[in-house]
Amino acid sequence: MIYDNHNRPINYLRLSVTDRCNLRCFYCMPEEGINYLPKKELLSYEEMERLVRVMSELGLSKVRITGGEPFVRRDLMDFLWKISEMSGVEQIHLTTNGVLTAPLVPQLKAIGIKSVNLSIDTLDRENFKKITRRDELPKVLDCLEQLLKHDIAVKINAVVMEGKNIDDLVPLAELSKNAPIDVRFIEEMPFNGEGNHYPTLHWTHKKIVDLLKSAYPEIYKITDAENSTSYNYQIPNYKGSVGVIAAFTRSFCGTCNRIRVTAQGILKTCLYDEGVLDIKKLMREGKDDGQIKATLLDAFRHRAKDGYEAEQKRTTSIAVMESMSTIGG
Ligand code: SAM
Ligand code: SF4
Repeated sequence: MIYDNHNRPINYLRLSVTDRCNLRCFYCMPEEGINYLPKKELLSYEEMERLVRVMSELGLSKVRITGGEPFVRRDLMDFLWKISEMSGVEQIHLTTNGVLTAPLVPQLKAIGIKSVNLSIDTLDRENFKKITRRDELPKVLDCLEQLLKHDIAVKINAVVMEGKNIDDLVPLAELSKNAPIDVRFIEEMPFNGEGNHYPTLHWTHKKIVDLLKSAYPEIYKITDAENSTSYNYQIPNYKGSVGVIAAFTRSFCGTCNRIRVTAQGILKTCLYDEGVLDIKKLMREGKDDGQIKATLLDAFRHRAKDGYEAEQKRTTSIAVMESMSTIGG
């Protein structure tokens, strides 16, 4: 196991396999005028396999596949099979919008996918259309049903947005009543790729918790998993849990062990940094595994203490021009 310069274990990679998406969630992507990366700018599957293998040799045991929407990239299932067979890779998790996922759930089960984070900001079809600019809620709910049927652990990710889905939060929390679903409410972050949507954060994690407490006066705090970024709560007699992720106010940085690699192969050791290493370039320059490992280790030993330090170190201005679809969430 390797540790960063703040003594945090580095064993968790979030790998974005594409910058493309079949939804257009307004907090993540502009409606039009998206400049998708040319295919050759993306890491190939071979390069991603090499990256996962090299990192697993450094102690990585957990991988989350994200995007863009991971399932819009062709042949994703083959890639999942391959990395599931790598020694050292103990857990594979996915983050998906669920639009294309339902028919693939039996295969995901066979591969041994440990859990799926499904993004749903509302259970109201019209509101879903407004938020995502696509009418796909039925397919997403079908995905949820399939995941539960196949006994794959599910977390729901819901971004909390003033004026957009506040009335949807309690119906979403109710998903945890009859099924072992963990519903997590996320503070909205300034990453929508447009630069004109830098929010004044109305819904801080504290305010979200207050809303939950007023809807469920009996709700109580439960122990958070190690390195968890969510504060988790239990509504009595509910099968699942609810949680809040302080993504914008960044109060979880002290235990953050997440390393991100974007679809174009840029290593981010903090969500708020501008990218600290171009892994694709190293690979395409012909660096061998030993050289890549040494460079990765160096980056892990220079991690920012928290998101504020990472933001300060940026040479470009604030993060607003980035889209979550390139970072992967
Ligand atoms: N397309 C997949 C999905 O939506 O689940 C995976 C990629 S998406 C970028 C990963 C997560 O980031 C989603 O749960 C999404 O809600 C979240 N996200 C995107 N933009 C965000 C923002 N500006 N603030 C907070 N969360 C955001
Ligand atoms: Fe696509 Fe996910 Fe971004 Fe929504 S949050 S636009 S589903 S990448």
